[in-house]
Amino acid sequence: MDQAADSRGGGRPSRIDSAATMGRRLILWDIDGTLVWWGPIGRGVFDDAIHDVVGRDPAGHGVSMGGKTDPQIALEIMDTLALDDGEAAEHLPVVLDALHRRTAEAEAEFRITGGTHPGVEEVLARLAAAPGVLQTVLTGNVEPNMRVKLGVFGLDRWLDLDVAATGSDSPDRRALVPIALTRVADRRGISFDPGEVWVVGDTPRDLECARVVGAHCALVATGRNAGALDGLGADVVWRDLSDVDAVVAVLAPERDGAAG
Ligand SMILES: [Mg+2]
Repeated sequence: MDQAADSRGGGRPSRIDSAATMGRRLILWDIDGTLVWWGPIGRGVFDDAIHDVVGRDPAGHGVSMGGKTDPQIALEIMDTLALDDGEAAEHLPVVLDALHRRTAEAEAEFRITGGTHPGVEEVLARLAAAPGVLQTVLTGNVEPNMRVKLGVFGLDRWLDLDVAATGSDSPDRRALVPIALTRVADRRGISFDPGEVWVVGDTPRDLECARVVGAHCALVATGRNAGALDGLGADVVWRDLSDVDAVVAVLAPERDGAAG
C-alpha cells in the first residue's frame, strides 16, 4: 500500500481480504445515466463553462454527451465554435476548472432537478456490505465533479472513491479500466484480474471500455440509450436496477460458506 493512501485515510474500509484469491469482485460504476439523472443542468454547466472561458455562447451545439469523458465533450463543443485545435487544447484545462466551479455552484440545483434511478441506493448499500466486493466509479467526469455529483444524493458513502478512474485520468474512456486496476493495486493492495471486474454503465462506450481489457459489462437502460442496448454483447442488460436481488446476484460473487 502506498504512502498516499495511508496518509489520506479517507476511503471507506475495504471488506476484501487481500490474501483471498477466490470470489472477489471489483465493480466500476458509471455515474450519469446509470446511477443518477440531472435534467438540463447537466448540459447547462458545460455551456456555462465554455462561455466563461471562450467568451462565446455554445448553446445549441448538439454534441452528445453519453459515455464520453468531460475533456472529450469540452473539445467537441469547442470544435463547434470553430476554434483551431491548438486554441482548444490551450483552453481545455481552464474550461475543466470552470466546469468544476459551475458544477459545484449548481449542486443545489442538481438536487432539485435530478434524482437517482430506481434501485440505486439499495444496490449500492447491499454491495457495500457484501464480502469480497470493492466498488468505485469509472466515469468521464473529471475527478472533482465526480465527488460533487456523487455527494448530491449521498451515493459517495457506499463507494471507495480514492480508487476511482475519471475523466481527469484520460480523455479516452477505453484507458480507464486499466487505470482503476492499477490504482486499486497501489492503494488497496489488491490485484484484480479483468475477469473479476464488472463495468456497469448506460451506453455502448461503457461496454467498449470493459471489452478492450476483457472485463464484464452490465448495461442499464435508464439513460438515453434505452432500447439501443440489447444485442450489443453485454453480459447482461437491465431495464433499471429496481430488481435489487437480481442485480446483486449478478454483481456480488458467490462465496462458499457465506450463508449463516
Ligand atoms: Mg453514463
